[in-house]
Amino acid sequence: MSKPKAALKKIILLSLYFLTIGLKKSNGLMVLTYHRVPRQPDLNDALKVSEHVFDRQMCFLKENYRLLSPNEVAQIINTGMEFPPRSCLITFDDGWKDNYTYAYPVLKRHHIPALIFLTTDFIGTSRAFWHEQLGDLLSKVRGGIDLGLLDRLVMEYPSNVNEMIKRISHIQDDRRQDLIHDLVVYLKNFDVQQNEGLVLKLNTVLGIRPNPVDPMMLSWSDVREMVENNIGMGSHTKGHEILTRLPIERVEEEIFESKKCIQDKTGYPVEFLSYPNGNYDEQIIEIAKKAGYVGAFTCVQGKNVDSTRPYEIRRSHIRENSSLGLSGRFSNLFFAIELSGTRSYLSRFRPNYDY
Ligand SMILES: [Zn+2]
Repeated sequence: MSKPKAALKKIILLSLYFLTIGLKKSNGLMVLTYHRVPRQPDLNDALKVSEHVFDRQMCFLKENYRLLSPNEVAQIINTGMEFPPRSCLITFDDGWKDNYTYAYPVLKRHHIPALIFLTTDFIGTSRAFWHEQLGDLLSKVRGGIDLGLLDRLVMEYPSNVNEMIKRISHIQDDRRQDLIHDLVVYLKNFDVQQNEGLVLKLNTVLGIRPNPVDPMMLSWSDVREMVENNIGMGSHTKGHEILTRLPIERVEEEIFESKKCIQDKTGYPVEFLSYPNGNYDEQIIEIAKKAGYVGAFTCVQGKNVDSTRPYEIRRSHIRENSSLGLSGRFSNLFFAIELSGTRSYLSRFRPNYDY
């Protein structure tokens, strides 16, 4: 048997194995992570699931899982019970505008509860995440960059940042996304303010207009409407800083103040936190407990068998192609395989997307 055929056979057998195990051992809470739900598909962006595919995924989940509300999850954790068999919670990170425009109508139509984690400094503003802006502008660069100018712009970064930007500007559009992703992952080692400054300077120098248009993040009135209609709100901190890189006082500020802000704006208690980029440690867990969160969500792949580790809730990142079959269209079978954990098993060999 040729190598590709043998590999395909192995993947199919592994899929069937995990699918069988998944169906038998269906106890525990499965938490799905979404980010953006735009109108049109964009397979290059691992953080987007288009409206149509999202709708099909919700239909599948409604038929095959018990979809819990954030309140039900909080009650189960508070009473130390086990999660019901085949239970599932839908979550969204960051607070993107399209969660209201496209995902919310689908959820409402199917009567599916969900939990959105808000980055409170961005809600109701025209601010955009630096990595989103950087990706947007680097995908628009044409004909390379003035190298002398670039050297001066990225002086405060190690030389590989310069190298990566140069490489991105010189290759074809359809091959840029992976390199942009690598650059974003690397830049996450630096301060958010420093990266925002870099994006601003690059924008000015390259003369590329940022996507003007409408705000990319939710407004507080969007949030209030959804809260009244079965969609819970959690905190994704104030500024989406990587908490493990901050001094402890700053971590407290991010975790406490974002909770208070959402409670003040909505009138509802905030029970859950999602760690930006999935980064946390024991000290951060203690702060989350002290702030009064019932639980916190990570980017660690997997199911939650019982409610004994409520500050390390595992999730599964859902992509557009998580549920596309060989024809490129939505497939119940491929989505079932995805949810069975096969992809998370295979994902240890792939880059992570944990924004
Ligand atoms: Zn995030």
